[in-house]
Amino acid sequence: MTLEQSKHTLLNKRILVIVAHPDDEGFLMSGMAYLNAQAGGQTTLICATLGEKGTSHLSYPVTPKQMKSIRKRELMNATRYAKFSKVYILNFPDGGVKQQQISFSKQCEVILKRVQPELVISFGPDGMTGHRDHIACWHAARALSKKYSLPFYMATPAPRRHTSIVKALLRQRVNPHYDDIVPYQPATVKIPVRRSFKRRVLRLYPSQTNVSRKRTTPSVTGLFTAEYFALMK
Ligand SMILES: [Zn+2]
Repeated sequence: MTLEQSKHTLLNKRILVIVAHPDDEGFLMSGMAYLNAQAGGQTTLICATLGEKGTSHLSYPVTPKQMKSIRKRELMNATRYAKFSKVYILNFPDGGVKQQQISFSKQCEVILKRVQPELVISFGPDGMTGHRDHIACWHAARALSKKYSLPFYMATPAPRRHTSIVKALLRQRVNPHYDDIVPYQPATVKIPVRRSFKRRVLRLYPSQTNVSRKRTTPSVTGLFTAEYFALMK
């Protein structure tokens, strides 16, 4: 099976996605969720935080409390557009998920038992950007997929970008919640996505992204025209 044909392993499935912040799913899995829904599958999202520490691209100042409600509204709009079937917001503190790893993993487990997914998708050990909240998602997803014997797919950048993106990502860092980036996982699944779809999803996050800017995260990671996942062995 080539990388191009591999998308069928992720579509028409009951999928549980675990991410840390509103917009993580937009960057990494929105195309997958949309195509999964079109194929008859269901994608449930767990979002650990409401991203109140996210830098605001808004032209007016907002408090962390206001940021939470802005990002919650954006998350609901973007996930509706990308046809996620259900969204669980756990409301852990942004930047503080790792410190509450046990409680976070337990809450994910309760939802996993309810959803009964056929597979789990989250970050890899790289956390894509090295963000510690992302890496906490990886820990939770890996442990649960092992415990329940479920295939675990980790979001990974476009293969052609695996070495070039690290510098760009390091330049973008705006807060102290990051670790070093460990090597990316080689992709085993490629989901082709329409650039117009991805741009539309990310436009639903005006507080986070300016898609007309040149070096946005999806252009740096090569995820504007396809999404890539690596099956954990
Ligand atoms: Zn994030």
